[in-house]
Amino acid sequence: MTVASEVALTTEQQLGLRQAEERLIRDYIRRLVKRSPEYPNFQYLCTLCSAHIENIQGAHKHIKEKRHKKNIMEKQEEDELRELQPPSPAQLQAVGAVVSDVAQQQGISEEDFLLRQEVMKQMEAVIQAVFTLIFKNYL
Ligand SMILES: [Zn+2]
Repeated sequence: MTVASEVALTTEQQLGLRQAEERLIRDYIRRLVKRSPEYPNFQYLCTLCSAHIENIQGAHKHIKEKRHKKNIMEKQEEDELRELQPPSPAQLQAVGAVVSDVAQQQGISEEDFLLRQEVMKQMEAVIQAVFTLIFKNYL
């Protein structure tokens, strides 16, 4: 479907329009092949914002809008995350070595662990005893 206003454009103007449209593709704005019956006057669609746009001027205005800029940023972040490669065996091994080093330097000893576990059990017993007492007196 050709737009009436486009027919009146010179070849040079049409070329300019095509180039502008190609640049808009990078901003997720594309020319509608079929106009929406709900928005018959709108020639473009921003697929990122699901926004109908009237014309090329409107499209240039749209890409400067806060909402669009925010959506573009989120889309780029999402794409970057999707492109992340899973770690290689060498990377996994390196991370494992670092974790094990840190655990040896900063981690607690087996005796410390057992001691803390014992303290925790005693505290649990005290708290349970206190709660039992409270429940007996007030319920
Ligand atoms: Zn948009």
